[in-house]
Amino acid sequence: MELALQIFFIVSLIIIIGLFVLQPRRKETFAWPDNYRDLLNDYVMFYANLGEEGKKKFEDRCKSFLSAVKITGANAEVEDLDRVLIGAGAVIPVFSIPDWEYINLREVLVYPGNFNMDFDQHGKDRLISGMVGTGYMQNVMIISKWELRQGFINSKSNRNTVIHEFVHLIDKMDGSLDGVPELLLERKYVAQWQQLIQLTMEQIRRGESDIDIYGATSPVEFFAVVSEYFFEQPETFRFNHPELHEMLQLIYVRK
Ligand SMILES: [Zn+2]
Repeated sequence: MELALQIFFIVSLIIIIGLFVLQPRRKETFAWPDNYRDLLNDYVMFYANLGEEGKKKFEDRCKSFLSAVKITGANAEVEDLDRVLIGAGAVIPVFSIPDWEYINLREVLVYPGNFNMDFDQHGKDRLISGMVGTGYMQNVMIISKWELRQGFINSKSNRNTVIHEFVHLIDKMDGSLDGVPELLLERKYVAQWQQLIQLTMEQIRRGESDIDIYGATSPVEFFAVVSEYFFEQPETFRFNHPELHEMLQLIYVRK
């Protein structure tokens, strides 16, 4: 009787352990808020302009991004709208690139407002509204909640901070942050792209361009700033900057 009891315990134990080991690990998935479609339609013009099939694809890409990357508030409450907008900012630039993953991003920190180079949220010199980290902040993006929302709420502007930061990540993913996205732009166009950058930066400095002056800071900022304009005001951008438009099409659009 005692032996039977022992065998019973041992067999039970084996079954319990077996169940634990064999159970497929559930991937942590992001739970969409119920009204995510309304949020996307109301705030994200890029999404609103897509057909049914495109919208479904956009949602799937957003979901897989938000399942892979942690979003944390730093003295800011991260609301559903913020999550959806960060997901949208990640998807927009690479929407047409199959299987794109931001392997250089682990976490997005949401600050309430602007911050400075030391990540201070208070005091003077808080001019930065978004950045991608280096050094110990590698694989982390910081974004100001205020600017994140402004980028989508203000439909007349050609600026969008979160898209700007994701463009930096795309630029960085080939190993060098230099304004040339080698993973997306064919080698044969690189020289032409660099020339166009220099030429247009000079135009901006002379005040002969409607591209934001921040774009004249460096080729890196130029690429991010014109990309914002390309995605935020596509028609105006095409009309005012046909050559740049053609180049950004080569970078971002796959047919
Ligand atoms: Zn920048």
